[in-house]
Amino acid sequence: MFKKTSTKWILAIASAMLLSGGVFAQNKPNVVILATGGTIAGAGADVTNSASYQSAKVPVDKLIIGLPELAKVANVRGEQVFQVGSESLRNDNLLTLGKRISALVKQDDVDGIVITHGTDTTEETAYFLNLVIKTEKPIVVVASMRPGTAMSADGPLNLYSAITVAGSKDARGKGTFVVLNDEIHSGRDVSKMINVRPNAFASPWGALGMVVEGKNYWFRKLDKRHTTNSEFDIDKIDTLPLVEIAYAGGNVNDTAYRAFANAGAKAIIHAGPGNGSVAATLVPVLQELRGKGLQIIRSSHVNAGGFVLRNGEQPDDKYDWIVAHDLNPQKARILATVALTATNDSKELQRIFMEY
Ligand code: ASP
Repeated sequence: MFKKTSTKWILAIASAMLLSGGVFAQNKPNVVILATGGTIAGAGADVTNSASYQSAKVPVDKLIIGLPELAKVANVRGEQVFQVGSESLRNDNLLTLGKRISALVKQDDVDGIVITHGTDTTEETAYFLNLVIKTEKPIVVVASMRPGTAMSADGPLNLYSAITVAGSKDARGKGTFVVLNDEIHSGRDVSKMINVRPNAFASPWGALGMVVEGKNYWFRKLDKRHTTNSEFDIDKIDTLPLVEIAYAGGNVNDTAYRAFANAGAKAIIHAGPGNGSVAATLVPVLQELRGKGLQIIRSSHVNAGGFVLRNGEQPDDKYDWIVAHDLNPQKARILATVALTATNDSKELQRIFMEY
């Protein structure tokens, strides 16, 4: 009788624990947080400072301790990879981060990765990882628009959501994600649209899904090549070439283009208006630079995301130029940088721009 009652109690307590998020380490996914800085690790002088504060101040262990809810949904541990504002991240940082992720996802005791990051270049890092990490395991880049010290800070919920996505089986094989404001975006598509308010990110073709109270709701899949289906592999990349972005509006001149060429750029992303349009005075300059071996990649800086058509606004076949199609200039820089590690053939580069 006693034995029967105690067994019942043990079972009741165990199921209550599981339902409330569980305390059994073996039932929870193992998620590693790689911290790089940004506003999600930021601190301001006052609770009213939602836009003026210092980013990259709070260490990852403090972020984890400050959010005990994380331990209910995953076994979480953190590594401080960098502690910077993401506007200061460089190609070397991308390599360091990518190689660390690649090593971690090969471990059986790691189910998913979360990267805490500044919002300024979240879209670049997430796209880079989408191209070069060979894994089905979820890789989630998370950021926040307000520091943890501000009223209505968005970092804690964003981090909680990122951890639950990174630990979910249904998030596997979908490429890298950016999670903010309850939305799950593809690292390929997402872009920062405004520098204030929590719903600052959007994808031109829509988010992949939503994460609400730790549950994922999926709406679409990324059709472009990524992660396990990508021809690029971080383990085989040791240096990244210089690719520069030249912004072109009205009254544009050739100073930046020539300076980038002289500085050794292997490709120039022409961030043009509209259909990646090129001013008449620039056309011969870009032809000349192409003749010297630089790759010329036409992209668009229109706000909602461009759609640059090959031979649409310029005869790209004739000039041997490349179009970035729907990639914004900063994403085009990432793809060109990665692609140039494999080929300098303009036709191959154009294929890559259409496939990724
Ligand atoms: N400048 C910051 C950064 O990108 C902005 C942010 O995180 O929101 O690190």
